[in-house]
Amino acid sequence: MDELIKYGKKIVANGLVHSHFGNVSRRVGDYLLISSTGSMLDELEGKIVRVPIYEESSLDSIASSELPVHREIYKNTPVSAILHGHSIFAVVESMLNDKCIILDSCETEYFLHEIPIITGGVGSKELAKNAAESLKDHLGVIIKGHGTIGTGSSVEEAYFVLSSIEHICKIKYYVDMTKDRTDTTIL
Ligand SMILES: [Zn+2]
Repeated sequence: MDELIKYGKKIVANGLVHSHFGNVSRRVGDYLLISSTGSMLDELEGKIVRVPIYEESSLDSIASSELPVHREIYKNTPVSAILHGHSIFAVVESMLNDKCIILDSCETEYFLHEIPIITGGVGSKELAKNAAESLKDHLGVIIKGHGTIGTGSSVEEAYFVLSSIEHICKIKYYVDMTKDRTDTTIL
């Protein structure tokens, strides 16, 4: 629980989410610990709920609205932690691109290779299915026009992925902007 509280604060401090958005979870055996609905990620003390992974429970209603997505990812991948943010450059890039974000010559590209862009409404079955499918082969994804999901074998690794997605998207945004400027100059 302490890890989720610690990294929840880092997610907010580093601008990877704002206000009451985003959610975090960690696998503990057949259960998951997840932030409660409407909680702020830098104030998670007393706001973390423990629910089963493989069945629904009476506490589902106070868990994050993205609980179905977290459950589906834990059911289909071996990851131990899932972090969801709304970082700006990742959302912008997901609206400018349709399939994957790929950036050559970037240090973090080595770890992430490519970042798929997926679709689906908040907490929907479609989003849960698309996220679980893409995260079988990738550590992180971007939900089109919405936000980021980072996963890992620890909360720390999931945080590395979440912040790396934003880092890569920020670089790509500025590189593409410079390319556009160069193209215009040539014309
Ligand atoms: Zn969200």
